[in-house]
Amino acid sequence: MNDNEWPKKENKYRALWEHARGIAAVSSTPSDLQLGRSNHCNFKCVYCIDHRIGNNEPRSRLSPPVWEDLQKLIPATEILAFHGISEFFLDPEFFDILRRCAETRATLRLNTNGSVCTPRHLEALANYPGHIMIDFSLDAATPDTFSRIRGWNFWRVLRNIRSYMECFAGRRDRTWVALSFVITKSSVGDMVPTVYLAKALGVNVLMFYRLHEYEGLDWTVAAKHGGDFTYRDEIVGEFRERYNTEIERTRKAAELMGLKIEIPAMLAETGTETAEAETEETVQ
Ligand code: SF4
Repeated sequence: MNDNEWPKKENKYRALWEHARGIAAVSSTPSDLQLGRSNHCNFKCVYCIDHRIGNNEPRSRLSPPVWEDLQKLIPATEILAFHGISEFFLDPEFFDILRRCAETRATLRLNTNGSVCTPRHLEALANYPGHIMIDFSLDAATPDTFSRIRGWNFWRVLRNIRSYMECFAGRRDRTWVALSFVITKSSVGDMVPTVYLAKALGVNVLMFYRLHEYEGLDWTVAAKHGGDFTYRDEIVGEFRERYNTEIERTRKAAELMGLKIEIPAMLAETGTETAEAETEETVQ
């Protein structure tokens, strides 16, 4: 263990000790921390919760004093995730934050829409001394579906992901890469082709999710390609037979390609009851 790792271990064991004794006022800090520094994003995906009805939240960032306080947690944190309804790769302090995390060799967990890929981003990630877990949200295998769901340039995002994969080539033992795919009525036909795409890109895993079905997720927005997107019409219960067929086909394609996938369960064929949303994996 090097000097940078000791504060993380000490903090973790202190947390376990405090938990075991039921101590309410703890002196440990989280060893796995997720930070959303802003709600700024350059995309406007049709299913993004930012579209929720009545949402008038202005664009904002964490205030400097709050961020100053949060940064003090970095040395004792093992895993630092930068997620949220935002695009972290556009954060004005992206490189400074990576430098601070690198000093403590924290594991970085990153989610990105794949739109940002400068030589400086590639270099910063290629040279990051700790582990990186990165998830590219893709949701499509074709430009039309991508444009309808994510409203951006599919080919550019694919080129960017390929560039990141090339930059990770020398550090694959310390880099875990996922593609993610939210299943909607608009995108269900892209599931199988995305298996082949993921295999060609060489990612570790392809993760499928159902569109969330919480109450209140109910809006209609104009999609860039193909008219309106009505949220409630796009949930998998609205096309259960097609959904089940594509789940089965996707599993078969992944097995054939030797690709690890995480995929939700099929839905019950009749009635309104759904099968448990268990996660299944196909391992290489
Ligand atoms: S990339 Fe993520 S945060 Fe940005 S609009 Fe799409 S779903 Fe929302």
